[in-house]
Amino acid sequence: DFDVRFEGKDYREVAELSDTLNATAKELGKNESLRRELIANVSHDLRTPLTMIIAYAEVMRDLPGENTPENVQVVIDEAGRLTNLVNDMLDMSKLQAGVMEKNDTVYNLTESIESVLERYNKLKEQDGYCIHFEYDGKVQVKADEYKIYQVIYNLINNAINYTGKDKTVWVRQKISGDKVRIEVTDSGDGIAKEALPYVWDRYYKVDKTHKRAVMGTGLGLSIVKNILELHHAGYGVVSEPGCGSTFWFELKIER
Ligand code: ADP
Repeated sequence: DFDVRFEGKDYREVAELSDTLNATAKELGKNESLRRELIANVSHDLRTPLTMIIAYAEVMRDLPGENTPENVQVVIDEAGRLTNLVNDMLDMSKLQAGVMEKNDTVYNLTESIESVLERYNKLKEQDGYCIHFEYDGKVQVKADEYKIYQVIYNLINNAINYTGKDKTVWVRQKISGDKVRIEVTDSGDGIAKEALPYVWDRYYKVDKTHKRAVMGTGLGLSIVKNILELHHAGYGVVSEPGCGSTFWFELKIER
């Protein structure tokens, strides 16, 4: 029976089936190793600030001389990092589950960006960063103001984190027909062509070494992508290694 079934056409069918099964297994394997890598990244990202918080708190408990404002600040900074990470993860899972609500209102996008930048400049000026805003007239859009704020905030945060010695970031608003385009430009290291399509992926980081001073979650841009897709907005990135990056998105103007 065995010989008959595996002869001729039947055999080819079995061979095809086995090819399909192999391909599926490979695909599943890829997903499985990707999943493991994601969990490893997340665990690492959660554990690093927690380890720091516990270590600093213990040192301050046991060695009275170490109870300094600088050490307390480390605990506060690391707790802040942890909060950002957990918030990003929650946003991400809500976006993935499709339960993220969109509360659209008509508002002035230009003024909203202006006030975000004002706040951010105040926060960052002591570190020498400067964010410039250029706009060609004030425009209104119909969108979820808080979510668009999150998009702009994430893009500026990245621009600041990845900018080089020149700590200047440019935000530009360009009106074109019935659309308004927002561009966030830095003069940092830029992104290699091969890495460019993946920067929007969850937990993707070009530099996976964890050595970088800035410890990102790899979630920022996938949140940006999800929010913009929720708004049916166009978006993209133009980047050249050594010459910096421009991240952009477009919304429809509400007249
Ligand atoms: P992260 O928390 O690591 O910044 P993101 O999702 O915001 O995560 O970005 C994904 C990756 O894309 C980053 O790790 C970085 O490698 C790259 N990237 C994002 N923005 C920039 C930028 N302005 N300049 C250079 N690389 C960037």
